[in-house]
Amino acid sequence: MEKEILTDGAQNPKTDACPGQNLYGMSQVELENVAGECQAEPFHGRQIFQWMYSRRVYDISQMTDLSLELRDRLRQNYFSRSLTVSEKKISSDRTEKLLFSLDDGAQIETVLIPDRNSTTLCVSSQAGCPLACKFCATGTMDLKRNLTAGEIVGQALSLRDLHGDNAFSNIVFMGMGEPLLNYQNLIGAIEILTSPTGLNVSPRRITVSTAGITPKIKRLSESGLRVNLALSLHAASQQKRLEIMPVAKTFPLEKLISEVKNYALAVKRRITFEYVLLDGFNDTPGDIRDLAKLAAGVDCKVNLLSYNPVPGLGFRRPADEKVDWFARELSARGTLVTVRRSRGRDIEAACGQLAARRRNGSQLKSIPTESRL
Ligand code: SF4
Repeated sequence: MEKEILTDGAQNPKTDACPGQNLYGMSQVELENVAGECQAEPFHGRQIFQWMYSRRVYDISQMTDLSLELRDRLRQNYFSRSLTVSEKKISSDRTEKLLFSLDDGAQIETVLIPDRNSTTLCVSSQAGCPLACKFCATGTMDLKRNLTAGEIVGQALSLRDLHGDNAFSNIVFMGMGEPLLNYQNLIGAIEILTSPTGLNVSPRRITVSTAGITPKIKRLSESGLRVNLALSLHAASQQKRLEIMPVAKTFPLEKLISEVKNYALAVKRRITFEYVLLDGFNDTPGDIRDLAKLAAGVDCKVNLLSYNPVPGLGFRRPADEKVDWFARELSARGTLVTVRRSRGRDIEAACGQLAARRRNGSQLKSIPTESRL
């Protein structure tokens, strides 16, 4: 199990579906090398970087400050192509969900969530997910493959193509998949997202959400990227966590929390604990005590969400009064608490819903829901 879930990058798509190699998703250094291969100077690679990620021009022939000769050389071995939107839904609360079809037929979801003072873009990092959390739609789909850096960045670029440079203010890696199991491509994508000549998003506005891949949290803290970290906690004791999140067997809670604490200290950012309330399972007075105790040792806030029931998975949504009571009691014990209400429920905005329906066919009426939205 451990060996299996520590593998990242192994399931990247074959690139032989198209002639040549896609420039889209390449880092600045990789593009400088491409320029070198085409007998051009490294700064031409930086120009291509800027065309694709800052100006959002993907057609090589339109990169007009490159010489015609260089554009011709590039086109002999490379192409540049963004993602294809296959379905789009807009909720009555303005939440917007896009389903992208990738070159190999894999489907991923991206959600845009406008709020009063900000707009959050929720991106996917894998097609499917290998972690099989017991309450989750995406977890029922298994892992199809990791997304490339280009496919991760492409979700943000597509939203800017649709709504302009101010399409979103924050990016959260809370869509389909476990981002820390696709570590290299996650890092590559964050570098492009944060580059001043790329999408120029501040790392303060990027949050990586993990189910708890302890060694990769350490690696992320050492990467120098200084992004925010959210932990999908959902239970404050090892025993309860094991019941709903198989990943807890490989990465037990005590060591995980210790690593999360180290992250907060190293990066100097408050951690978010995501906690989905499952009626009668993790919303008892004992859970409040355990959660308050665990949170007391970490610079953190607890983000409470109530569960959207999934037929067949055996968990229920608690009453709103119960959620409010849980939040009050937790807060009274000195924990910083926020309550996040569901968004876009009329458009299957919770992660995995739309892809699950596409996978199962349109006859599927009740869609499993995922925890993180
Ligand atoms: S909750 Fe997150 S980590 Fe767990 S199965 Fe779903 S997508 Fe994967």
